[in-house]
Formats: sequence, structure tokens, C-alpha cells
Amino acid sequence: MLKERCTMILLAGGRGSRMGSDIPKQYMEVAGKPLLWYCLNAVQDSAVIDDCILVCPASDNSFIREKILDKYGFDKVISVAPAGSERWESVRNGLKVLDEICCGCESGSSGGKHYVFIQDSARIFLNEDIITRCLDGVRKYGAVLAAVPCKDTIKIVDEESAICDTPPRSRVWLAQTPQVFERKLITECYDKADSAFEITDDAGVVELFSDHKVYPVMGDYQNIKVTTPEDIAVCERFLDR
Ligand code: C5P
Repeated sequence: MLKERCTMILLAGGRGSRMGSDIPKQYMEVAGKPLLWYCLNAVQDSAVIDDCILVCPASDNSFIREKILDKYGFDKVISVAPAGSERWESVRNGLKVLDEICCGCESGSSGGKHYVFIQDSARIFLNEDIITRCLDGVRKYGAVLAAVPCKDTIKIVDEESAICDTPPRSRVWLAQTPQVFERKLITECYDKADSAFEITDDAGVVELFSDHKVYPVMGDYQNIKVTTPEDIAVCERFLDR
């Protein structure tokens, strides 16, 4: 069997404005470690992920290398890419760096498929079970995202904020990360992305710019995105358990 390659693009390029802190969210401490440490640690320990492109603000490059990558020995990070001003631009920058590293070659190192796992560093509960479910899914479908069935009823509002639709709950999933794709597919779709579209996740880019279907695989209800200060307290409670 040809050898597959799995690369994670780990996003740590946000400003974390909803956190209301002077320190960017990715460097804030959660249970004594920088928030960014958690996903890097999951990558380092993973039997699935071969390597990682870390995306962070260009001005933080030397800080990240010295205070996080070298300090904790995260040697699966093969390159640090500059963040863009929106999440989707950060992903596109990460994919470009990956493409340069692969010298335009579409497949993994020895001809097998090359899968790209796109992960928010703000989701610190990434674990090997989620990664493995995503790998199984992407082998089958070519495009998957970790997600959980929605427990609440969702309301859609119109321009005047009046409710205009209630989708059947059985068909609503909450998107998480990783979102995982064959590299050629996700690179081609991101090449077409631009700011005329409201792009908040990677599956959305594939939905917009290709006919390829994307499937949810079971994420984890604990796999929350750290966004506001209360989320840090929630994470610390989860980590205590
Ligand atoms: O802002 P939000 O919480 O949705 O960001 C999700 C993830 O995308 C975070 O891990 C954040 O660091 C990353 N991001 C990025 N570049 C941006 C904005 C967000 O890498 N310009």
C-alpha cells in the first residue's frame, strides 16, 4: 500500500478580540500551559499526524519558535506560516507554504494520498480518537469535518431579526475542527476563495467552490472553541476531571 501523509495546518493567527485580553488568546494560560500548547501536544503525540504547519502572526515568529516550539520540543512543526487578517486567509497561507514544501507534488511522500487536517488552536481538546475518526472519514469521502449533532433547536432570522425558519433538529450539526480534506481538493477550493464570501470554516469553502460532498464525523461535545474568558474556566474544569 502507498504511504499516506497527514499534515495538520494549525491556526493560531487570531487576535482573540472577544477574549478582551492584552495577550492574544493563543498564548493565554490554561491550567499552566499556553493555549497553543494543547493542540501542538496532540500533534506531537499522534500516530496519525506526520507533520504540522503552524500559522501565527508574522511578528510572533521568533517568540513562538523560542518559547513554545523549542521549549517543548514540538519538532513535528516543519514550518511557520504568516497569518492573514481573516481565518480563511490564514488557512490559504498555510496551504501555500505546504504547497511550496511539496514542490507542487500532489501526493504524499511516496505516492499515497496527502490529507490536510485544518485545526483551530482554540479547540484545545483535540485528541487521537477525533483524529482517527477524521482519518477514517477522509479515506472514505475525501472531505470531512468533526461535528456534533445539535442538542438545541436552531432559529434562523431574517434581516429584521424576526425568526423566518426552524430547521429540523435531526439535520443540524455543529461544526468543529479538525476539518480534513485531500490536499488537492482543499488547495483548489481555497485558490478560488475571496472576501466577497463570508467564509467561517473550511467545509464551507469546499461547499462553495466544488461539487465535492463533505460529511460530518463525530467530534466531541467537549471540543469547544475557546472564545470568551468563561471558556477558559470551562476548559480548566474539564482538564481537572
Ligand atoms: O476567531 P475564531 O475564534 O473563530 O478563530 C478560530 C481559529 O482561527 C483560532 O484558532 C484563531 O487563532 C484562528 N485564526 C487565524 N487567523 C485569523 C483569525 C483566526 O489563524 N486571522
